[in-house]
Amino acid sequence: MNFAAVRTATHHSNMATTSFTKQSIGPDANEPALTPPPVSTTQTTFAKKPKIAGAAKSRKRDIPEGLWTKCPKCEAMVFDKELDANAKVCPKCQFHFPIGARERIHSLVETCTFEEINAEMTSVDILRFTGLATYASKLAAYRKSTTLKDAVVTGFGKIGAHPVGLGVMDFGFLGGSMGSVVGEKITRLIERATEKSLPVIIISTSGGARMYEGMFSLMQMAKTSAALAYHARARLPYLSVLTHPTTAGVMASYACLGDLILAEPGAMIGFAGPRVIKDTTQAELPPGFQTAEFLLDHGLIDAIVPRKEMKERLGEYLDYLTARQNHGPVTTAA
Ligand SMILES: [Zn+2]
Repeated sequence: MNFAAVRTATHHSNMATTSFTKQSIGPDANEPALTPPPVSTTQTTFAKKPKIAGAAKSRKRDIPEGLWTKCPKCEAMVFDKELDANAKVCPKCQFHFPIGARERIHSLVETCTFEEINAEMTSVDILRFTGLATYASKLAAYRKSTTLKDAVVTGFGKIGAHPVGLGVMDFGFLGGSMGSVVGEKITRLIERATEKSLPVIIISTSGGARMYEGMFSLMQMAKTSAALAYHARARLPYLSVLTHPTTAGVMASYACLGDLILAEPGAMIGFAGPRVIKDTTQAELPPGFQTAEFLLDHGLIDAIVPRKEMKERLGEYLDYLTARQNHGPVTTAA
């Protein structure tokens, strides 16, 4: 599926998965909530966007940068090296800090097996979006701060004995928002995996569709979902992993279409934010609303997997889901 708003170069590169980069996390690129405003609202002013707790305030300003990080949950001061060695999980209370795409890939795949695809694909400012800053200048700034080209890294690697198509989102790039590049890269990953008869794993974190690309962002929901439908028709497993936060257009498309849907502990998962839902429904929300734990209790997700067990558990699920393929031909139903 080719797409007009994407500039791409066919490029394969072996990605260095050993780089650990610090990234600034900014949830400032979330789409406006799609839920209609309360009926009583007659003014055209927009309510302030709800902040996504925990994603942005992991560092206290008066602490020397790059040495210690204050845990937002238990308030313990954690030595950064200890945090890095512990997959960015607080050793005291197991709070899961945000983790960059490359660092996560490094923690999941067998060493030197990951080969990135479509690494050079970049967005075009097709709407010439201008706000406080132009979209083009924002893209340039995030490319520099994250060393990523966009909010997802896709490619093929091995988890245990299983070759898989792996897509990992990065909240540090414009709030993990899904524009035409994220949608196209995810779609191509799924299509390539379908051709190669391989499972797909997508680790999501996103504020939703990217408002700077308007309708081009929204149509990625349909495009990625269609690619997954072909993948499913070929009877190939797709595992979706939801990490903090996974919301809006991403949650409403490929993130919730997994044969198995897993989540990290404490992850905020939902479509519209809790404040928007509360304002719209005018109802008190239950405690723990939109957390991974709440959604597990209510059957939306299948399991909560701590980050440090993720690789092993994914391997086990793949063992189970591909067992039949490994032991005989799969009968294809119409
Ligand atoms: Zn903690």
